[in-house]
Amino acid sequence: MHIQENLTIQQKLEILSDAAKYDVACTSSGVDRQGDGKSMGNSVASGICHTFSADGRCISLLKILFTNECIFDCKYCINRASNDVPRTSFTPEEVCSLTMEFYRRNYIEGLFLSSGILKNPNYTMDLIYQTIYQLRMVHQFNGYIHVKTIPGADPELVDRVGWLADRMSVNLELPTADGLKMLAPNKNRKNILRPMKQIQNEIYQNRQQLGLPNRQILLPKKENGLIQTKEQGMIATGLNNKELSMQHKENALRVKRLSSVQMKKGDRTFVPAGQSTQMIIGATPENDYELVSVAEALYRNFNLKRVFYSAFIRVNDDALLPTIPGGPPLLREHRLYQADWLMRYYGFESKELLSEQQPNFNVLLDPKCDWALRNLHLFPVEINKADYYTLLRVPGIGVKSAKRIMDARRHAKLDFHDLKKIGVVLKRAMYFITCNGKNMYPMKFNENFITNQLTALEDKIVLGLEENTTYQQLSLFDVKNFNMALKA
Ligand code: SF4
Repeated sequence: MHIQENLTIQQKLEILSDAAKYDVACTSSGVDRQGDGKSMGNSVASGICHTFSADGRCISLLKILFTNECIFDCKYCINRASNDVPRTSFTPEEVCSLTMEFYRRNYIEGLFLSSGILKNPNYTMDLIYQTIYQLRMVHQFNGYIHVKTIPGADPELVDRVGWLADRMSVNLELPTADGLKMLAPNKNRKNILRPMKQIQNEIYQNRQQLGLPNRQILLPKKENGLIQTKEQGMIATGLNNKELSMQHKENALRVKRLSSVQMKKGDRTFVPAGQSTQMIIGATPENDYELVSVAEALYRNFNLKRVFYSAFIRVNDDALLPTIPGGPPLLREHRLYQADWLMRYYGFESKELLSEQQPNFNVLLDPKCDWALRNLHLFPVEINKADYYTLLRVPGIGVKSAKRIMDARRHAKLDFHDLKKIGVVLKRAMYFITCNGKNMYPMKFNENFITNQLTALEDKIVLGLEENTTYQQLSLFDVKNFNMALKA
């Protein structure tokens, strides 16, 4: 191991921000906290914290490793113990200083802190704890902090970090225990799932104490026209969207009030932005059906906020790693994210999207169109009569447009012109809907015809994805004034 000594903070930053670029689990949604006039920074539940590079990676956070030294030897990782790469570590004070300076200059909106394993998991987790403790308590940093949990760290340390961080994540790394054993021999499922369960339980208990709802992440399935949620009881579908949205607003305000009161007291809520995880795809032979089923189980059993997918990049020459001729499987990653969206917001289950007979996503069509074409007997849907959850299943109709349709048709019958104004993507939806019993154009309602039309449309999107996607994280060092900022 080649440990660099006497490096400047900028040299360390170059090494440790570059070493963090393969971690994709770093979005920052979920916390709405205003500045209080005494501490530095704020965090907004949506909008300003969401900045993504062209390849979909989040760049609005200072994304660094505490150290790229590591005692583990995960085959897929550039920082594995057996690699001969320059190694270095920050001190807690250096991470605090960088975060505060970048925040002041508006380069970042928060911190994403992960780490290799220095000496042992507890030693590393304790350094991470010291870092964010100083940030919150000494520097009064009130911005967003996402911390990666070190597998195998003591639950006491996980607990301490959880009271200071906004989001925590524990990477599942590979979808099966066998894959983990083969490519990450120092890790095991127990060390990954145990902190995940601990974080879930503590979030649940803390929200219970504060009188806040513990919502399920996945949209539950409709039964007999009603939706059953764990915490909220029976909610009538479609017709009470307004009530639901009022309830969400009230809850958001309540969280905001509690958070700001608690910050003043030096107290905090436990992991208020929830937890996430990441799976590498393409390094082991699991199919898409297995991947989305694992993701679904994680959402259900651990109430994760997000499951991220990271297309495998072969950074090490190792006989156990596959060679992927076309490069990282970006289209596959894209399809998995589309399916993830369908499961979280549209009420789809993994077994509706794929099956053992059809275990991988269609490369030519997005998962929703593909599902619709396999279920043509459910279409066309009459826009002026269908319930909210049926509308959600129509290609080209999203959550917003389905809600708008439900609201607008209370006042008048809708036609295609109205749908366009509402935001429905008619070039997809027109094959699957009628307005007042009529199609948009006279057309054949058969699978071949619709498939041909939709694949022509999708070709352009896929081409754009492949052409525009680079597999590089934007670098802090692209910022022209970066050096000046460090010297200041
Ligand atoms: S624990 Fe594994 S994945 Fe994490 S830094 Fe070490 S070698 Fe890489």
